[in-house]
Amino acid sequence: MQLVFATNNLNKLKEVQSLIPEHITLLSLKDIGCFEDVPETQKTIEGNAIQKAEYIKEKYGYDCFADDTGLEVAALQGEPGVCSARYAGEQRNDQDNMNLLLSNLKDKPSRSAQFKTVVALHLNGKLETFTGICKGEITLEKQGEKGFGYDPIFKAEGFDKTFAQISIAEKNKVGHRGKAVTQLVDFLNNYN
Ligand code: IMP
Repeated sequence: MQLVFATNNLNKLKEVQSLIPEHITLLSLKDIGCFEDVPETQKTIEGNAIQKAEYIKEKYGYDCFADDTGLEVAALQGEPGVCSARYAGEQRNDQDNMNLLLSNLKDKPSRSAQFKTVVALHLNGKLETFTGICKGEITLEKQGEKGFGYDPIFKAEGFDKTFAQISIAEKNKVGHRGKAVTQLVDFLNNYN
């Protein structure tokens, strides 16, 4: 089976690649000649994941899956949520986003947060979605060099290190994307 993973994010590709069994050939957007920004203009994380998967299927004709992720912070009424990429502005800069979040949380007693990933799969004309949630908290400052996005300021429940201080394998075990992709793999393994 060949499936496109509709992302230009190499970090996401690395995380997902290590969870996909060998009998599934994963193609990147580059592999199918897609060099444009895939639109994500919906109001929900699920809506954006579905929009990206449908766009690739319709425009390029490949079965594919897409993920969309948001960081939901309880003391900020679930923000940045679906706006996580552009939290500090259209430049979509990780450092700016983390700095704004740390500053908005400065006087808040609770630092509880969760990552939510929705994976949308477009396969043989049918759409399926899989959701993964990882609960944790926002740290007081950035720690670690690994990972991407908000990883340096997020500690999963039960961990004393941020996602930027642990390996991809460790992150995949408890992380939002790992949980959603594991459900996707179970679905594909039982698909006939
Ligand atoms: P998107 O799913 O690529 O739209 O990501 C939305 C925002 O969340 C971007 O700012 C990403 O950098 C960030 N993000 C997505 N996944 C993760 C993750 O696993 N860890 C940290 N940040 C993430």
